[in-house]
Amino acid sequence: MVQIAIDGHSSCGKSTLARALAQELAFIYIDSGAMYRAVTLFFLENNVDFFNHHQIQEYLAKTEVDFVLAPSGNRTLLNGRDVEERIREMEIAARVSPVATIPEVRRKMVQRQRELAQNQGVVMDGRDIGTVVFPHAELKIFLTATVERRVERRQLQLLKLGMVVDYEEILHNLYERDYIDSTRSDSPLMKAPDAIVIDNSNLSPEEQLAIGVLLASSRMKII
Ligand code: C5P
Repeated sequence: MVQIAIDGHSSCGKSTLARALAQELAFIYIDSGAMYRAVTLFFLENNVDFFNHHQIQEYLAKTEVDFVLAPSGNRTLLNGRDVEERIREMEIAARVSPVATIPEVRRKMVQRQRELAQNQGVVMDGRDIGTVVFPHAELKIFLTATVERRVERRQLQLLKLGMVVDYEEILHNLYERDYIDSTRSDSPLMKAPDAIVIDNSNLSPEEQLAIGVLLASSRMKII
């Protein structure tokens, strides 16, 4: 089955492209970041010590992450509970990257990501999709944008969810997450050697999608 991997730094439009491309190709869309956010929420709710491997394993075994498609889009379920809005809050954004460095967490999430994508065309976005999750993906895109554009977009996205967060707080969070995500030893964020880089700083979502569709159709004779 066809796999499309979209990786890149925080808030550079990966989910916008991935969701639209999946819809265009009638593939499923999987937001792998939402899965790490859901685990983080579960650990915080249960006061899991991020350095206690015994506790991590105990709570990971009780963590089930799923997605349901609702009229409003994909909803993330944590043990059957809809946590889609909750996992977008700054509290989770501020804690997710340390949780995503934990090898046990990554192993479980990668396994779940492959399971969810079984037997169907998939567009998945994240940090290690083209390098670890789907190293043989038919198309790998590495998205990038200026930090100013990324902060503006995240600010707008949060505003749409009713959260007013100032520029500096978002900027600090993006830098911090990018640093932790790129320097962790287990599957760090990096461009796969065969990924195509797209800088979307000056592209509209429609222009970005048109490029994605063009790349997908040139890589796979599916359209
Ligand atoms: O994509 P999003 O910004 O929602 O991801 C939240 C966090 O989850 C990232 O900052 C990163 O720490 C982690 N993540 C990851 N690997 C992925 C996707 C996300 O480590 N494939």
